[in-house]
This record gives sequence, C-alpha cells and structure tokens, in this order.
Amino acid sequence: MTARDSIQTANRKQGALACSALFLMLAACVNEGNTGPGAEPAATPDNATVNYFMTVAGQAAGFDHIGLYNTTCARMGDPTAGRERPPENRESPDTWGMQPARVFDNVYWLGEFPAFESNPGAWAVTTSEGIIVLDALFDYSVEGQIVGGLRKMGLDPGDIRYVLISHGHRDHYGGARFLQENFAATVLISEADWNFINERAAASGDDSGLPDAGLVQFIRDGDRFTLGDTTFNLYVTPGHTPGTVSYTLPVFDNGTAHIAAVWGGSGLAFRADSAKQQKLEAFRQYNVSALRFREIVTAAGADVMLGNHSYLVLADEKNALLARRQPGDPNPYVLGREKTVNYMNVAVACSAAGMASFN
Ligand SMILES: [Zn+2]
Repeated sequence: MTARDSIQTANRKQGALACSALFLMLAACVNEGNTGPGAEPAATPDNATVNYFMTVAGQAAGFDHIGLYNTTCARMGDPTAGRERPPENRESPDTWGMQPARVFDNVYWLGEFPAFESNPGAWAVTTSEGIIVLDALFDYSVEGQIVGGLRKMGLDPGDIRYVLISHGHRDHYGGARFLQENFAATVLISEADWNFINERAAASGDDSGLPDAGLVQFIRDGDRFTLGDTTFNLYVTPGHTPGTVSYTLPVFDNGTAHIAAVWGGSGLAFRADSAKQQKLEAFRQYNVSALRFREIVTAAGADVMLGNHSYLVLADEKNALLARRQPGDPNPYVLGREKTVNYMNVAVACSAAGMASFN
C-alpha cells in the first residue's frame, strides 16, 4: 500500500482514529528515510501527508482551539513567526491587567489580559486545605494579578499552599519566588524543568525570578497530588520544555462534577535556524507526549480543557459570557468530551504534520 492509498483509506475513517493510524505509518516512514548513520532527513517534504495532518488539525481545532492551532500548525517553520513583540513598558499593568473571574465553584481565572500573545494565564484552585495556584505569571505581574485577583474574588492569599508550575519558562514561573517569600507556598515542578531553569539561569548569569530551592517539591510522572478534598493527576510530558507537566483535576459547576485537563506547554521547542534533525526530534518528542496525554484525557473522561494562556482557552471571551450567565445557561468552559479530546488532536496532528514535513 502506498502512502497515498493509506491517506485515502484513512480519510474515510474518523479524524482521530485516522490520525493515530497514520501516525504509526508516518513513524515507520520517518525511520525508513533515516537509516544511514547521521543521515539528514530527505529534502523533499511529503506534502500530501503534511496537508492531510493540517486538515485533520484544522477540523479538530474548529473555533474552540484556534489558539493552539495557530501556535503549532501555523508555525511549523518557525515557532515565533508572526509573534507580536511585547511593548517596552510590558511591566506596566496597562499591558497585562485583567479582571479575575470565578469560572467553576473551585476554580478562578487570574491570568493576564491577552493584549500580547506571550501574556500568560494562571488559575487558583480552592480546596478544603487551602489554595493551589496554577502557574505563577511573571515576577512583575504576580502581585497584581494573583494576589490582587484572589482578594478581588474574596479569597485570602494567605491560604496559598502550593504553586504548580506547568513548565520552566519565565512567564509561568517568574512569580513563584514571590509566592514562596510572602505565603510560604511550595513550588511543584518537574525535576527536568527545575534543572532546565537553573541551567539557563547559570548560562545567562541572570537568576532573577528563580524559585528558592528550599521550598520546591519535584513532580514525578504519574504522581497523584492531593490537597484536602482535591486530587490532581500529574504527568511529565516533554516537548515544549524538557519537563513540561500536564495534568487533570476535578472541577465543579454549581455542584456538578467535571474533569478538567491542562496540556502544560503549547508551542514547539525549536528555532527557525535549528538543524533539521533537531526540529524533527522536537516534533517527535512533542508528538509522543501529545499522543500519550490524549489517551489520558480520553480515559479520564475530561470535558474541560484549561490552558495557561488566555488565547488557548479564549478566557477573555468566556469570562464575558460567564458574567452574563443566567440560571440554566451552560458554562462556556465545559466543552464536552469530544471537543476536549479535540484539543489534543490538534497537538497530535500538528506535530505529526511537522514530522511529515521532513519525510
Ligand atoms: Zn512556554
């Protein structure tokens, strides 16, 4: 069977199923093309396969996941392509200040305004034993958004017990030290990303925002982390960074239980000038983790996908809908299982397209 026959056969199946089947085939193709010692991937991309996966990804994305599509599929050659430069005055609240919002009984949006794509998101999860903050924002926005946001929501920042870092980029960990110093919060991070941020700080000579090693607890793959009545399932899903953490948690909407998932890092980890083999490896690693987390999300029955940038979850739009919500209206953050899995289908298909572009 030729690759084209496979694609046509696969096209007749459901998108997600076809994607898995094609991934396996694609992995074989990639291996075949690289049998020689140190061989570079062939120069001619398999455009039919790339286009196929782009189409699968676009269909899976729809409107809900367009932010993830734009950071992956739309940037296969350069993960920073088309990215707006943050302004000189990015540390001013004018560029990031955003109202907090209660989005579930136990979950609050505390993220930055999506004026600039790099503006990060953050959440607070309330439990019977205190608050877990999901991502710490920048060192300059943590106090205004996270501490100020909790107060606006009528919560006590003194109840912060943990800050869970999805990955070791400064927009997600930069505020962690502030939360350690002011509230004795323990930082939860994978060991791989802890090493990653420390190595980068050592290499650059800039250790500003590095969390205090005395209040750090490492996340291991498959950990169950419980605070009071709330248990997170944590997974190390390398791709965006060496130790990106993705997870699931229980959320409640007016008492109705849902399962939320968080894919810890959205973009691909290479540069436009990276060697081909490095790019291929970045796509491959991301793809392996995305396939795995898709299985986890499916098995958990997750029907909510939270993310760590506003544009990934359309937090601005959804918070506006929530503010006008009438009794009986749906919660815009509840996507249902199919759309939730579709988030991961975008991640899987876009990284598969990237791999095929080297085939
Ligand atoms: Zn990042």
